[in-house]
Amino acid sequence: MSSTAADAETPVMSQRERMDACFARLEELSAQRNAIDGQIVALVAEVTRDGLWAGTGAKTVKGLVAWKLGMSDATAGSVAAAAQRYDEFPRCTTALCEGRLSLDQVGVIAAHAGAGSDDHYAELASVATVRQLRKAISVEIKPEPDKEPQEQYSFSKTVGEHTTTYRITVPNVEAAKVDAALGSYREALINDYRRDHGSDTVDDPESPSFDASGLYVRQTGHTEPRFPTLTDAFLQMVQTAWDAEVARRPHGQHTTVIVHLDVDKRAGWVHAGPALSDADRQLLLCDSDCEVWLEQRGQVIGAGRATRVISRRLRRALEYRDRACVVPGCGSTRGLHAHHIVHWEDGGPTELWNLVLVCPHHHREHHRGRITITGPADRLVVTDESGRALTNKSLARPPTEPPPAVGPWRGPLGERAQWRCYTPFEPQPPPPSPN
Ligand SMILES: [Zn+2]
Ligand SMILES: [Zn+2]
Repeated sequence: MSSTAADAETPVMSQRERMDACFARLEELSAQRNAIDGQIVALVAEVTRDGLWAGTGAKTVKGLVAWKLGMSDATAGSVAAAAQRYDEFPRCTTALCEGRLSLDQVGVIAAHAGAGSDDHYAELASVATVRQLRKAISVEIKPEPDKEPQEQYSFSKTVGEHTTTYRITVPNVEAAKVDAALGSYREALINDYRRDHGSDTVDDPESPSFDASGLYVRQTGHTEPRFPTLTDAFLQMVQTAWDAEVARRPHGQHTTVIVHLDVDKRAGWVHAGPALSDADRQLLLCDSDCEVWLEQRGQVIGAGRATRVISRRLRRALEYRDRACVVPGCGSTRGLHAHHIVHWEDGGPTELWNLVLVCPHHHREHHRGRITITGPADRLVVTDESGRALTNKSLARPPTEPPPAVGPWRGPLGERAQWRCYTPFEPQPPPPSPN
């Protein structure tokens, strides 16, 4: 039989029929996936409730979930939120386990909805999209105008293609200080500018003599360095502060704590301060930036800085090699410490093979004995409290059980929400006590 004849015998499905078939299968799979997510949330709830995750080395339940299940932070956040409030939202979580609600829907509810709103949102979620749920939760009537103070200090940063925008919020008292400082720096810059460019230049940056990039355009048409703006003043302030810091601590990366170390007793204490626990002593000694005074029988016998300090070059090599915290599942890149695998006080050298970058959290966890880090650096083994090696691998593997038997997912209605007719959730006053 030729292939053309076979093609002719295959019943031809219309586009419409094929789409319907795809959607039918998708409904089935979505429901199964929801139900599986429900089982995952239930397990994570158990792990959270009983604190089973404490020995894993993870910083948060969300971090643990992202690591072990190979999920994005956002998805892991939904799992962790739903697990955290598992008992508080029985109807929503049951609907998830039965495949009727999705993890994202329940995650949004668990993350933001008010207490006692399980019934309200279980109803709404059966017809609403994640976006609609978010909106509904945002218009929730809050129990009482919370006297929570407004965020008085905040710092945020938005990185664009060519520029970065900072947004800083401080109380007005602090703002006055910032204004005064900026004003003073700008004045100094303007004085410099006038000295270099003559005093006949305009001093109004808004004047049309400035082109789009802020360069001062002389009437002859050529451009000169721009007249100092507040942004320049700010950058100058940062530079000056930075220079002062470097001058103050030429070798320091972030601290110049002085530690006394009794070489016989292995005891340490902070200069003019308290005795250190073994873990804190090791942590400080490891993190190279403190100054160590070695003592024997109460006499200072030397300063141990030279062998501990990590040169800029070594630090760069270390950053190039490790990039992030070396503890599997962490990936943190901020404020990394250089840890001596064989501890410095045990004779571990300050060399690349004996150093790894770890985040402050894991560094503390290690020196407190919660995780072990064994080298050399190129054959690193990190184990948790129970001695199991930590890996970056997710837990996923082919299933050995059939998928949950649940009906197909019907999903949200997909209708335009009529917010004017919507009654937001309002917490009910607690019932009067029986006595
Ligand atoms: Zn260390
Ligand atoms: Zn870490």
